[in-house]
Order: sequence, then structure tokens, then C-alpha cells
Amino acid sequence: MKAEIISVGTELLLGEVVNTNASDIAKALKEIGISVYNIDTVGDNPKRLYEDIEKAYDRSDIIITTGGLGPTKDDLTKDIVADFLKVDMVLDENEVEKLKNYFKNRKDELNEGNMTQAYFPKGYEILDNPNGTASGCVINKDNKIIIVMPGPPREMKPMLKNYVIPYLSKLSSKYFASKTINVIGIGESKMEEMIMELIKHQTNPTIAPYFKDKSLTLRVMASDDDKKTAENMLLPTIEKIKSILNDNIYAYGDDLAIEDVVCKYLMDNNLTVSTVESCTGGMLSSRIINISGISKCFKSGYVTYSNESKIQLGVSEDTLQKYGAVSEQTAIEMATACAKKSGSDIAISTTGVAGPDGGSEEKPVGLVYIGLYINGQTYCKKLNIVGNRQRIRRIATSNALDFVRR
Ligand code: ATP
Ligand code: MG
Repeated sequence: MKAEIISVGTELLLGEVVNTNASDIAKALKEIGISVYNIDTVGDNPKRLYEDIEKAYDRSDIIITTGGLGPTKDDLTKDIVADFLKVDMVLDENEVEKLKNYFKNRKDELNEGNMTQAYFPKGYEILDNPNGTASGCVINKDNKIIIVMPGPPREMKPMLKNYVIPYLSKLSSKYFASKTINVIGIGESKMEEMIMELIKHQTNPTIAPYFKDKSLTLRVMASDDDKKTAENMLLPTIEKIKSILNDNIYAYGDDLAIEDVVCKYLMDNNLTVSTVESCTGGMLSSRIINISGISKCFKSGYVTYSNESKIQLGVSEDTLQKYGAVSEQTAIEMATACAKKSGSDIAISTTGVAGPDGGSEEKPVGLVYIGLYINGQTYCKKLNIVGNRQRIRRIATSNALDFVRR
């Protein structure tokens, strides 16, 4: 089945609002094996919306719109859908009751504009909206499905998850199993290169690499009529990926950042940790402190950006002079000094050239050393990160967290 998404709203065209709805819908459809053929954005303009629906109707089986369900005159999506399908708009008594109650509870007047929200194109099924006054609807007619949802993401998202996806899943007899593999320590292109052969020869399950928030992930997805079979189909592919990426895999599952995994390890093992940062300037401690419950492990976070500050913490002047601030020796002395001062089991340090200035042939922009102190032992890792200042700092932070795990 092919789907199209039409996002309605002039604010989207003006660039004032980012179209997160289309992205959320596309992602959710992918999970149930429905491919999105096209995404359109259209202003609050009846003629253009009509044309968009017409085109989408021709090409695809499912049309999903968001926006334009409000009580104001420019909210016309349902009218245009009715127009296009050549059906009347009909009043839903249940929806009238809902609106009346809603306004009664708010001690507000139900006006004529609000009443338009209780009209739907004939042949509709209601999609309940517990977070707003505009219910959505589905019209399933002549083997085509039109789904109309409100624009505000806090209303659209629950409707998508609770009604639309279950509705569409039922139409496809297939079950989709998927697993997310979280990867660190290699870049996106390196990862793709490593698993390219596997991806090429894989149809079911499929393997899709993508960058999500702060981390690199691989999504393995299999489909079958039977749930258990689909789930089992994932396993050999996951094993193959495991044997290729080994230690670069830090977790399996959705929405798991490296700090989640590392902090859980620290908490489970009652280990205390402190940080001393130069080029990452607090990013490392901030990502650790983002994890709830970490207070029993995290002791101190020092930002020693200048040489003086490094010396104050306990790095020797000699080392700084002889090897420079961006060096293995300094990284290790930073970690050791940090552990001593804070009395932590583990201390992590970062020092590097974040750029864009300050690089040299010997020490180019992107050169970062991570120092690690664990119960009296010290380790150091050298990184050469490509990118702008923000990316260098972000990747240095992720790698510093990763170093604790290894
Ligand atoms: P309302 O009753 O709030 O008017 P509506 O269904 O008419 O609901 P719109 O007026 O189109 O929705 O949008 C309301 C707000 O929702 C927009 O101002 C915008 O902030 C947000 N919004 C709309 N469409 C999107 C979208 N595609 N992605 C993200 N946010 C959106
Ligand atoms: Mg509106």
C-alpha cells in the first residue's frame, strides 16, 4: 500500500513552524510497512489543497492530512475532502455533545465556528481527539482511504498512535518486527561501508542505517504473516551485524543514548564518577547529569579550559609546557588530578582542538584526547574528528562516555 501525507497550514510554508507531523507520520507508517510515496505541504488555500488531494488520490491508496481542522474560516480541510469526494458534510450529534461539554467545563461559549468542528464528510468514522476540540476522521471509500487529523502535534501524535496506526495495521495482514541497534565509535559512512554487502543482499529483513538525535543506529525490520516468525527472522541478521560491528554496538533498543548505558552501568555497580573537561566544556557532565538517579554516582564536574585552571586542579606545569594542553600526557594527568580531588572511582577527561582556529600541522582541528582513570589505572584514547566545532565537541563527548564502557 502506498500513502501520501499532505500537511496543511500557511505557517508551514512561511517556515515559521517545522513540519514535524509529516516526519512523525512517515516514521510510524514505515514501522507498519506502508511506504510513503509523497509528502506535500500546502497553505490554507482551498484550490491548492483540492489539487493536492486530487493528485494524491490518483497515485496512492492512503492520503493522510494534518491541519486545518480548527474553528476559524481558514480551516477548510474537511470541506475540501467532502468537495473532492462529492459527498455532503454531515453533523455528528456525538461530536456536538462533546463540544458542548468541553465548553461547559471551560465556562465558555460554544460559537458557530466551533460547531463546524462537528461536521464531517459523509461516510466518516471519527478519530477521537482527547487533547483538543477537533476530532479527526477516516473516510474509507472505493478502496481509497483518506485520514484527516488536526495540526497541533500534541493532538496529532496521540491520534496517530492510538487510532490511525492500529486502523492501518489491520488492513495489512502482515506483522512487522524490528530491532534498533545502537552504534558508536565509528562514523556513519564507515558503518555503511562495513555492512554494505549485508545491506545489499538483504530484502526481508531489511537493514536501514540512520542518524538519530545524538547517535548512530541501524534498524533491522522483518515482516511475515506470523508474529513469531517475523521476530525470529530478525535474529540471524542481528547476529551477522554483531559479528561485523562487535564492540561498536553499545545497546539494542530504541532511544538509548550512550549515557543511558554507561550511567546504568555506574549505578548498578555503585561506582562514583567525575569529569574534567577542556574542549567539551561541560557537555560531558551535562549528558551524565541528564540521567535521572545519577546523583549517587556523579561527584564533580570540572571545566579546566585554561592552562592555569588545569594547573590549579593538579596538572603539572612541566607536562603542559613539554607536551602541550592537547596531549596524551595532559589528558591522563587531568583524569588523575580529577580523581584525586574528587575522590571518585572513575575520572574522565577531555582535551582537544575544537576549531575552527587553533589547529596546527602537528595538532590539527579535531584532534582530541580522552583520558580515563579507573581505580588507579589510567588509559588514553586519541581521536581525529572531522567537522565543525559543535560536532567535534559532541562526538568527543560521546566517545568519552564510550571509553568508560570499554
Ligand atoms: P487548531 O484548532 O489549533 O486551529 P488545526 O487542526 O486547524 O487546529 P492548524 O491551525 O493547521 O491546526 O495548526 C495549529 C498549530 O499546530 C500550528 O500553528 C502549528 O503550531 C501546529 N502545526 C500545524 N501543522 C503542523 C505540522 N505539520 N507540524 C508541526 N506542527 C504543526
Ligand atoms: Mg487552524
